[in-house]
Amino acid sequence: MIQELLHLFFPNYCCGCDTMLLPQEELLCVSCRAFLPFTDQHLYTPNEALNKFYGKVKIAQASCMLYYTKEGIVSNLLHQLKYNNQPKISYTLGKMYAELLADTPHLTTVDYLIPVPMHKKKRRQRGYNQVDGFATALAQYFGIPINKTLLTKITHTPSQTTKTFRERIKTKNTVFQLNDASSFTGKHLLLLDDILTTGSTLETCARLLLQIPQTTVSILCLAYTK
Ligand SMILES: [Zn+2]
Repeated sequence: MIQELLHLFFPNYCCGCDTMLLPQEELLCVSCRAFLPFTDQHLYTPNEALNKFYGKVKIAQASCMLYYTKEGIVSNLLHQLKYNNQPKISYTLGKMYAELLADTPHLTTVDYLIPVPMHKKKRRQRGYNQVDGFATALAQYFGIPINKTLLTKITHTPSQTTKTFRERIKTKNTVFQLNDASSFTGKHLLLLDDILTTGSTLETCARLLLQIPQTTVSILCLAYTK
């Protein structure tokens, strides 16, 4: 009853087509849901997601849930998630993906879920990391812990005392950093991101994680760009 009243006064709109959602619909209307471009990558190994890393860095398994195109439902969803203060999209899509992955061996050997870190300044601006909801959904569904301390993103300023202040600002760089990894030897780490495009960020993160002795690294993303 309360839900229905709330819906009457605060209707939700479909993130795909902007029509008003029915009370039982979440995030997307029935027809947008029916037209979601699923990749089915989790059903095949190797697949196009894993192939992006071939010859670059050793990834055990990789898959993405949806195909991303410049226009369309998936692009609307990710835009709302990143720029319109809608962190819940990440969680809802994560839950959807968890249900698809439930019948596959993808997560059976995973020890930790690692969302690709965001610089704390950027996180403060946005108010959230857009991958956190995805991680939470998987953690709840599969009972796997999330780790956000092993890998962090920092501002790295090389110590160049001879340079002027302006030059130092110019050489300022955001980089990923591997922190105390002593208890992660031999673990299977699953890197999570919202979208796999060139794969360079994930590659950098995977390289760092693979410095830990005997680790295995896999990758899951919500969307995939061809
Ligand atoms: Zn719709």
